[in-house]
Amino acid sequence: MNTKDVNTADNGSAKPNIAFIGLGNMGAPMAENLLKAGYGLSVYDLSEDATQRLQQAGASVADSPKAAASNAQVVISMLPAGKHVHSVYLGEDGTNGLLAELPQGTLVIDSSTIAAADARTVAEAASKLGIDFLDAPVSGGTGGAIAGSLTFIVGGSTDAFAKAEPILAVMGKNIFHAGEHGAGQVAKICNNMLLGILMAGTAEAINLGVKNGLDPKVLSDIMLQSSGRNWTLEVYNPYPQVMENVPSSNGYQGGFMSKLMQKDLNLALQTAQNTNVDTPMGAKAAELYEAHTVENGDRDFSSIMARHDSSVLS
Ligand code: NAD
Repeated sequence: MNTKDVNTADNGSAKPNIAFIGLGNMGAPMAENLLKAGYGLSVYDLSEDATQRLQQAGASVADSPKAAASNAQVVISMLPAGKHVHSVYLGEDGTNGLLAELPQGTLVIDSSTIAAADARTVAEAASKLGIDFLDAPVSGGTGGAIAGSLTFIVGGSTDAFAKAEPILAVMGKNIFHAGEHGAGQVAKICNNMLLGILMAGTAEAINLGVKNGLDPKVLSDIMLQSSGRNWTLEVYNPYPQVMENVPSSNGYQGGFMSKLMQKDLNLALQTAQNTNVDTPMGAKAAELYEAHTVENGDRDFSSIMARHDSSVLS
């Protein structure tokens, strides 16, 4: 790769410098993929361990969000929850966060999973300052973050989306423009609410069959070719040893933690409540995951199987 390749985007224009805030399980591999693609990257995280990993990969480490963004045209964040996003961008009093320090025209992409209402609050504050804000939560988990194959679900203006697309394409394979501010977060929690319902229901159906003498693999194959077919049966069976290379065949390690599923189900319920929408199946899935995460929050969300048969954990 020559210097021109490093500093030039596919369409011949200069690549923007990027500030990346939040280098956890998802953010670190996403940031590494940007570095590999030749973007100039300045990073910030509260954890020194997290920043060291990126420093070794070639990023410059800053000691505040403001310092990370000082030479950047684009800011990307991947933070745990809405309160962290609020605190980074709006600050403690709502006006003394990173947004107040950014020049007009900066593009801000928040990929954290947060409430749509919180995303809209930050977007409104950004818009008043002449800053483009996109909510761009992801689907695909840590495997997708490492492989650069995430799905980005984006809310915000068409112009900002067009600017963000080539950058998101470095970290993801499918990039959807869901609609205006907040639409990315709404679409993401609709998907994850359905996923939680499907996983809990699939575990329940397999358990019913097994308790009535069926082999879990035979039953799974039958349902896979019948009308109960769904994503969990296709690629993520919750019963141990039915499928290779899935968390259920590896002690429910890795994958998508139950506590993150619980978080997303709660975000879905919060959105439903705020908008007077009835989600009884989502509420039931949230109740099941809430009980499950007391002991199994760090295990993959397919471990909801253990609700029916705790021996699957051994
Ligand atoms: P994580 O807890 O591993 O990482 C979060 C990082 O943010 C940590 O390194 C933490 O030190 C840092 N951080 C917290 N507050 C900060 C602040 N004020 N300033 C700078 N850094 C700060 O979380 P994760 O698994 O990487 O998830 C990040 C987001 O992605 C969450 O919103 C999560 O719901 C979403 N998500 C996660 C997955 C997954 O499989 N892990 C999948 C899809 C979406």
